[in-house]
Amino acid sequence: MTTPADKCGFIFDDQSPNDSSHCCYRDTWGDRDQCIWHALVTEGQRKPIKTLRHTLTNRAVRDQVRSSNRKELLDGAKLRQQELGSQIDFEGLSFRQADLSRQIWKKQTSKMRI
Ligand SMILES: [Zn+2]
Repeated sequence: MTTPADKCGFIFDDQSPNDSSHCCYRDTWGDRDQCIWHALVTEGQRKPIKTLRHTLTNRAVRDQVRSSNRKELLDGAKLRQQELGSQIDFEGLSFRQADLSRQIWKKQTSKMRI
């Protein structure tokens, strides 16, 4: 199956026994081939928080999804050296195997569940 050119197409390949592999269908970010969550940026460049937030489903929808024990999937997201802290509401998001290294936390994010 091919992904349309304006969609991310990042494939999260879950190797676990309960295989939950999936393909990202978010819009591509600017002139990049992948969405803002999966696109790589050059060293020192940061992804705009406002755009990251904008691509998430709204809280009400996320709460509905969560009530059926599911999460909005951001698995494999590339957020290296990103300044997120409390600027993103992490409730109900899944970040399996996401690159959160050198994360710059501004505030305690006790609500974060990965
Ligand atoms: Zn994506």
